[in-house]
Parts: sequence; structure tokens; C-alpha cells
Amino acid sequence: MRKKIVAGNWKMNKTYDEGLALVSEITNMVQDEVNNEAIVIVCPPFPFLAGIGKALTGNEKVKLGAQNCHQNESGAYTGEVSAVMLKSVGVEYVILGHSERRQYFLEDNQLLEAKVKAVLKQGLKPIFCVGETLDQREQDLTFEIIETQLKEGLFHLSNEEFENVVIAYEPVWAIGTGKTATSAQAQEVHAFIREQIARHYDAQAALDTTILYGGSANPSNAQELFSQPDVDGGLIGGASLKSRDFTDIVKSF
Ligand code: 13P
Repeated sequence: MRKKIVAGNWKMNKTYDEGLALVSEITNMVQDEVNNEAIVIVCPPFPFLAGIGKALTGNEKVKLGAQNCHQNESGAYTGEVSAVMLKSVGVEYVILGHSERRQYFLEDNQLLEAKVKAVLKQGLKPIFCVGETLDQREQDLTFEIIETQLKEGLFHLSNEEFENVVIAYEPVWAIGTGKTATSAQAQEVHAFIREQIARHYDAQAALDTTILYGGSANPSNAQELFSQPDVDGGLIGGASLKSRDFTDIVKSF
């Protein structure tokens, strides 16, 4: 079912104590100030998940997400973390295919297909990221790139599996650059993504899929972005590291 979501991707930031403090501020502010239906997700680094998971136990509004996971359940994969492990500490969502993973860790659509499967198998929800680079946009390749990312990373899923997927459109040129996509640019791509879902699944699946925008979203532009018909919320980087900014974004629906 389509939902309003604001997810904070902390990336590789904060110490454990800082992370606990941030979550405590966010949960308090959300409880006191937010009266919309939005689901709030925090995605801290791996070592913080168990502790923050505990702090969030029973919280109806603020959920726990991870930033990545390995495609296998267990075994000799030094340094890796599986979806089974994430589930065991209260994680409900897993960001997959973030452009930083694609760029710095060479994750391709084939690997992401396996990761998506692994996450769904544990009953967790992938937040699957797609997006074009500046070069690709300038060469008019945006739609082609996104179509391929969706086809190869997600569209192998059955209708039933696909119901648990959240998609995030994150134009690579907008991430951490202060250059937000205009609301029209975001809407255009979100509508295109919905069209692709309708084509591969059906119209209902397209209507029911939550599609988030990510890339320099902040309290000043969130309302305009979230007011677009096909934008269901945001995947927030920098602005998710400050409780005031993050909560203000959650209030922007
Ligand atoms: P910024 O909000 O810092 O641009 O990062 C967006 C992002 O990559 C979220 O996953």
C-alpha cells in the first residue's frame, strides 16, 4: 500500500552516543509535533543498529532501517552483514542500490537483484535507489538508465514480492551537492517510474508503490517536492543528521 515516508540515511556519520542522542531528539520531536500519517525511518550505520533498535522498540511512528546488506544469509564473508542479522536487531527497511554503493563499491544491478531477494526473504522492505548521473542527464539518458535499473534490479520480483518494495529516485547530481531537482524534474521521473511499474506489473501496483525523492532535500524545499502527485516522501542525507531539520521535513506533507 502506498505510504508517506521520510527516511534518514545517515551514511558514515556520527558516533554511537551522538546517534542515540539524535534518535532520542527525533522521537521526541516527532511525537510532540507531527500529526500526519508519515512513517519516519532512521538508517544509522551498522554498529548502532542494535542499540537504536532497542531505543525504538514499540515506537509506532519511527522505524529502523539499514544502509546495505549482503546477499547471503551467513557464512565466510568477512566484514559483511546479512539480512537475517538485520532482522534480529529490529531492522524493518534496508536501503539498496544507493548510488554511493554503486559508485564506490561497484554494486551492479545483478548483485542488487540478489540483495533485494535476500531482504524480502526475511520479510524486510528494500528501499531501492535509482538515479542518473549528470552526464547521463545531459545526454538525455535519464529514462533509459532508470528503466534499466528497475528492470534488472527489481522487475524480476513477483507481484506479491513487489508490494513490499519502496523506490527512491535519487539523481546522482543532486546528492550532497545542494542542487535539488526541481519539483517538476522530480515529478517527471517519478511519473515515469510509476508508468514502468504499470507496464511490468499492473496499474494497481503502480498506484500502490511508494516512491521517495532524494538529493539535497531540506526543510525549505520538502513541501514543494512532497506536493507533487507522484512524490510520496523523501530519502534524506545531510538534513537527516539534524533533528530539527529532519523533523521539519517530516512535517512537510
Ligand atoms: P543529501 O540529502 O545529503 O543530498 O543525500 C541524499 C541521499 O543520498 C540520501 O540517500
